[in-house]
Amino acid sequence: MRLTPNLVEDIRRIIPARVLIDAPLSRFTSLRIGGPADMVVEPGDPGVLVELLGYLGDRGVPRIILGAGTNVLFPDSGFRGVVIRTKTLRTLAVTANGSDHAKIIASAGVPLLAVIGRASRLGLKGMEPLWGIPGSLGGALAVNAGAGGVCTADYLEELKLLTIRGEERLVKKADLDYSYRRMKLPRDSAIVEGTFRLSRGEPAKIKADRDAALDRRRMGQPWKEPSAGCVFKNPSPEKPAGAIIDRLGFKGARAGGAQVSQIHANFIINRGNAMASDVLELVEKIRERVKEAENIELELEICVIKQESGND
Ligand SMILES: Cc1cc2nc3c(=O)[nH]c(=O)nc-3n(C[C@H](O)[C@H](O)[C@H](O)COP(=O)(O)OP(=O)(O)OC[C@H]3O[C@@H](n4cnc5c(N)ncnc54)[C@H](O)[C@@H]3O)c2cc1C
Repeated sequence: MRLTPNLVEDIRRIIPARVLIDAPLSRFTSLRIGGPADMVVEPGDPGVLVELLGYLGDRGVPRIILGAGTNVLFPDSGFRGVVIRTKTLRTLAVTANGSDHAKIIASAGVPLLAVIGRASRLGLKGMEPLWGIPGSLGGALAVNAGAGGVCTADYLEELKLLTIRGEERLVKKADLDYSYRRMKLPRDSAIVEGTFRLSRGEPAKIKADRDAALDRRRMGQPWKEPSAGCVFKNPSPEKPAGAIIDRLGFKGARAGGAQVSQIHANFIINRGNAMASDVLELVEKIRERVKEAENIELELEICVIKQESGND
């Protein structure tokens, strides 16, 4: 169902949240790409999110959850429906703060950096290799973001989800289906909260490991340019996609305003005026060439949003 003026008015009236109409999605993504969304809504608390999801679910209005937008490519035509941004869902608490471990409970819009920062200040170890990954906790869990052999789900205890109808569901880690850069959630569900269980470590070592992870990132990634992180998943740990793409001579290759980074061949950067179609053109060229040269089908790591994609 399309968003009619009546629905727009209804949502404005019943949902106490910031609402933007015809908002360019390029404003909300690290690649700075994406046409207008019919509506962007920023619910101020989980209760409002429940209400909103229930309302949209009942009427079959297309919607997508957006964290910090650091791993997505929206089409140039934008999104017909509602984009729900989680950035305002930001509670973080520490519980079970004992001598050998503690738990951190954080809502979807909390930056992953804030979770790791709190953990390391408390001397809780494990997540240091993820230090420097931009984005929200909800986004990191939805794609199972990772670095240095660690992924976000590794230290998770449980997830709180909202179903398409806005019903709450707690899922234990053991019941989650996840793997490298993949988290299988029930279709159309939204992550509202994650609970992590972390063990105590040596604070000086935690800080040193965290800083080293950031240094590696700054040395090896185009972190000052607009991008959405690595475009492709690594076919295997021994065969990083970036090394394959580099070997095939793609560094610096351009399509319109999109360019394969000179620093890391698995990053496509926006040189200022890139369109989604430019990025997709480069993606297809790289895929074809890698298939031809290596007989490898590169799988996307970035989330290419299609009108019908929703959160599946
Ligand atoms: C410079 C740079 C470096 C990066 N380095 C890394 C890296 O080392 N490792 C890595 O894994 N990634 C990396 N990324 C990619 C990205 O930062 C991470 O994947 C991040 O965790 C995505 O979080 P986000 O909030 O931005 O998600 P978004 O981009 O907002 O969303 C990503 C996907 O998750 C879905 N989603 C978001 N929030 C929710 C929610 N609450 N419930 C359900 N679905 C949701 C969205 O619909 C979308 O499909 C990098 C990106 C950049 C720009």
